[in-house]
Amino acid sequence: MRITRRAFLGAAGLSALTLAGKSALDGLARAAEAPAAPGAAPPGVRWGMVIDTAACFKEQGCTDCIAACHRVHNVPAFADRAHEVKWIWREPFERVFPEQVSPYTAPGLIERPVLVLCNHCDNPPCVRVCPTQATWKRADGIVMMDWHRCIGCRYCVAACPYGSRSFNWLDPRPRIAEIRPDFPTRTKGVVEKCTFCEERLAQGLQPACVEACREKALTFGNLNDPSAPVRELLRARYTIRRRPELGTGPEVHYLV
Ligand code: SF4
Repeated sequence: MRITRRAFLGAAGLSALTLAGKSALDGLARAAEAPAAPGAAPPGVRWGMVIDTAACFKEQGCTDCIAACHRVHNVPAFADRAHEVKWIWREPFERVFPEQVSPYTAPGLIERPVLVLCNHCDNPPCVRVCPTQATWKRADGIVMMDWHRCIGCRYCVAACPYGSRSFNWLDPRPRIAEIRPDFPTRTKGVVEKCTFCEERLAQGLQPACVEACREKALTFGNLNDPSAPVRELLRARYTIRRRPELGTGPEVHYLV
């Protein structure tokens, strides 16, 4: 039996918040992995990122990575924060890592805004709650989005504990500075987020944010390869992840 968008949203409306709360707890359970898709990495690859917060902070006010990401992905720019759509952005340190902050934390750390994006979690609660499988986890770890399947219920937005997903409250197309024809635009009523530049990885390129960073603060690669630069960093330096106690297994790691 087919369920129309209107019927689904009507039936689901009241239970949305309840389910969203349950989903956060369900995040402790493993999410199903989809088989490798065309363009996905070969078996055995697990993509991940390391962000050097000190290197990122060197060029204060630099937005090269954000601009590059939003340009290549046709991300709209809304002046009103209530309508904001973001794939990668900065947040105050204490909001990103509240558990790391005490009255004695070094001021140099607290004052660093931290770059945030989708963590491409090992155990993504957003995937578990999507009723149409518009979001799923690939075998290489990338948490994908199919914007054509998204019905705008926003369960995934509520389930993500990191605020990594944006909803298009308005038609995004008039707010894109220059529409790139090589990447799809989205529509009003659809959720979007970072996809680790899966379209660039399929061409053998690095993510746009990594390529754009002048300070080389972002390192991207295969976490399953012990000789990969991401693994070398993780071996040599102390890193932290966002809210590890939730069991989501974020694969964006931070050098602090
Ligand atoms: Fe899903 Fe949020 Fe994890 Fe990204 S950061 S995979 S949107 S739960």
